[in-house]
Order: sequence, then C-alpha cells, then structure tokens
Amino acid sequence: MAKKKRVGRKPASAATEIVDQDPDLPSIQEEATDPELAEDGMMPVVKENARRQEQDKTQANKDWVTPKRKAQLVMDCWNKEIAGNGLDKIMRKLFRVKHALKAFQRAEVGDVRKDYKEAKETFCNIQEAAANFPNDVFIQQVNLDEAILQQAARGDKFSAKKCYNSLVGETPFAYANAIWDTLVLPKHRFIFWQIANSHLLTRDYLHHIMVTPNNLCPVCEVEVETHDHIFFNCYYTSQVFEAVNRWLGDIHWPRSTAEMLQLCNNATKDLTQRILNAVMAAVFYFLWKNRNKCVFDYSCMVPSKLSLEVRKIVQLRVVCKYSNQVESNRF
Ligand SMILES: [Zn+2]
Repeated sequence: MAKKKRVGRKPASAATEIVDQDPDLPSIQEEATDPELAEDGMMPVVKENARRQEQDKTQANKDWVTPKRKAQLVMDCWNKEIAGNGLDKIMRKLFRVKHALKAFQRAEVGDVRKDYKEAKETFCNIQEAAANFPNDVFIQQVNLDEAILQQAARGDKFSAKKCYNSLVGETPFAYANAIWDTLVLPKHRFIFWQIANSHLLTRDYLHHIMVTPNNLCPVCEVEVETHDHIFFNCYYTSQVFEAVNRWLGDIHWPRSTAEMLQLCNNATKDLTQRILNAVMAAVFYFLWKNRNKCVFDYSCMVPSKLSLEVRKIVQLRVVCKYSNQVESNRF
C-alpha cells in the first residue's frame, strides 16, 4: 500500500503542473458531454487539427506536417484536464494522446495500411486477369513489366542496368565485347568505340558543318580525310601496319570500318585474339593522336616510333592485368 501511495503521489503533482493553458480547447467536461465524442473521443482533436492546419497554411504557407505542430498537438492534448487520480489519470491521458496522434496521422498522411491493402488487391486482380485473358495486350504488358523487375533482381540486389536494358529493348552488338574488353586501355576503348560508330570529327564531316581550308587528310594531304582513309587506307597507316607486323607477326589488318567490326565479332575468343584486339585498339588510338598532332602541332611521328609506343603500352597492360590476376589467385 505504501508503495502504491508513493507511486501515485509523483504523477499527481506532475499532473497539477500541467494545466489547461488554451482557453479555446474544449475542457474534459465538455468532451464528456459532447455527442460527437461518444464514439471514440477523437473528433474535436481532428477539428482542432484541421483548424491549426489551415492557420499554418495561411500564416507560414506550409503544406507539410511540421514537428512543431505535432508537438503542440501533444501538449494541448496532455494539458486538458481529465477525471481520475494518480497513475490512472496519467494512463488515461497517455491513451488520449495516442488516439489524438493516430487521428492526426490519418488526417495528414492518410491511412497507409488501407492504401497498401488496396494496392495489393489491385495487383492480385491484374495477375488474375492476366491469367484469364492471355491475349489482352494491355494486361499482359503490366504483367511483363513485373517480370522485367523480377529478372533485374538477383537475390536481394537490384540491377538498374539490367532493368533499363530490358525496358528499352537492348540489342547487344557482337563487336561491343571486343571494344570494351578490359585488356584494352580505357582511353583506347573510347576512341575505338568512336571509330566503330564513325563519330570522330574527321574533315569530311567538319567540311559540311563549318568552313575549313580543305578536307584533305592532314597526314598525307593526298586524299579526303574520312574514317576509312585515316585508319585503314592512308599511306602513313599502311606504314604503321607494316612496322607493327615486324614484331607482331604477319597479321591481316582490316581495310574498312565494316571489316574491322567483322574482326571484332570474334576477337574475345581466346587470349591471343584479345591481345591482337588490344594492339589494334592501341594502333587506332595512336593514329588518331598522330593525326591531331599533324593538325595542331604540325609534327608527325615516325611509323616505327608509333609502332614501338603501341608495343610498350600493350605489353605493360597485359603484364599488369595478368600479374593482378596471379596476385588475387594467390590470396
Ligand atoms: Zn592520309
């Protein structure tokens, strides 16, 4: 009994400290006699909440729940007097605050559980309809999108790349693997990809969009500079191919972009093919670099020197890649 008294005394004093400070709020007696309160005792809170919401919108032009207003709601609810004594009184007040917060949440955010239930029912209905109407394109499309999302997920991980490729209907090119092969240096890959798509700013293209002194190849100054000329048919390019063949062996170099793409289709079958592919990418990169030097620096590299640069950089790349693999296999 002594314990009960001790426990009851403190909350009683705490309750007396919290008095109803807002004269606009209905008192607990009014609350008890209000017919609208008979159901759950929450309606005045909702009304008050709506009134404060309107005030906030007009005063501060805010349209979202602010922690300040939520705190005010709790304080208002707590400060209202309620019948009872001691711990029982506090419990009743807490119960009232809980219901006030629930009503506040429903009014501001909405009933999340209800929304979830509705969405789940809609999804189940669509699945059922998809099973019943296999020829309906719209229903099957909704079902297909769901299948795409499931395919893009592996375990608990979701791949945005896979999902995007599935949605846009990706058509992979066979030569892409060779161009983006990890044995090819990143800067070489970029130029390689530009060549494959004929996207470099060669003079035949520039000649159409701006005024240029001429559209001749800046290296040999004999023929019009096109992708096919600068990378496959230029006299300088053939000199470079010969220089590379002296240390690489007698390999067949492509004579056009289309032929190059054909070679790329089978360029990742084995390590030898991958190294040849890396050499080809490096040669194209240095050819383009040399062409730019001719345009901007008025200097041209000797074919044998360019060939040595290619050899050094590819050798270094292959050694680095494979030494890394050996290291990672060791540990
Ligand atoms: Zn040329």
